[in-house]
Amino acid sequence: MSTQQVISFSYTLRNKAGEVLDQSPEGRPLEFLSGAGQIIEGLEESLVSMEIGKSDEVIVRPEKGYGFRDESQIDTVSISQLPVDEVKVGDYFQAGQDRHAPIVRVIKVEGDQVTLDANHPLAGEDLVFSVDLLAKRDATEEELAHGHAHSSGGCCGGHGESEGGCCGGGEHHHEHEDSEGGCCGGGGHDHEHGKGGCGCSH
Ligand SMILES: [Zn+2]
Ligand SMILES: [Zn+2]
Repeated sequence: MSTQQVISFSYTLRNKAGEVLDQSPEGRPLEFLSGAGQIIEGLEESLVSMEIGKSDEVIVRPEKGYGFRDESQIDTVSISQLPVDEVKVGDYFQAGQDRHAPIVRVIKVEGDQVTLDANHPLAGEDLVFSVDLLAKRDATEEELAHGHAHSSGGCCGGHGESEGGCCGGGEHHHEHEDSEGGCCGGGGHDHEHGKGGCGCSH
């Protein structure tokens, strides 16, 4: 029997070449509920076994990160099927009305034919996280019932969603269209993070 914990950590994410892809904002660590699929598996496994106050480098392979690239996720469509008149390589679209619909990225434009890639931008990448484990505590009854941490700030604190949190869990890369991935997956953290408390609808 394992107890679910709320774990607080700060991180810098680099690719294998050492380029910084993402980092937790200064003074705003991420907090997540373990065992709830809120962050990528490989990172969670390491954090769960780390002691408070420790720093470590965690290398996450694709099978425990964002998965492998899948060529069947690449599709060519006519520009008339897209919600815009003009596209360029690097643009992102949400493939559907739902705010959690997958994000597709334009990788080629040829005449009116547009090639879209629905793979996660970090699929197939080895992810190198430098993490500082700041705090751990047992989850409260309420957090267990909700399936997410009720943090006092940082990621997963301000999402008004009952399914809980971000930090790279599953297909949760809404509103990160301009970045290189989801929460903890790269790019800007410019949405709803760090408001504090639980915004869920329970
Ligand atoms: Zn809640
Ligand atoms: Zn998010």
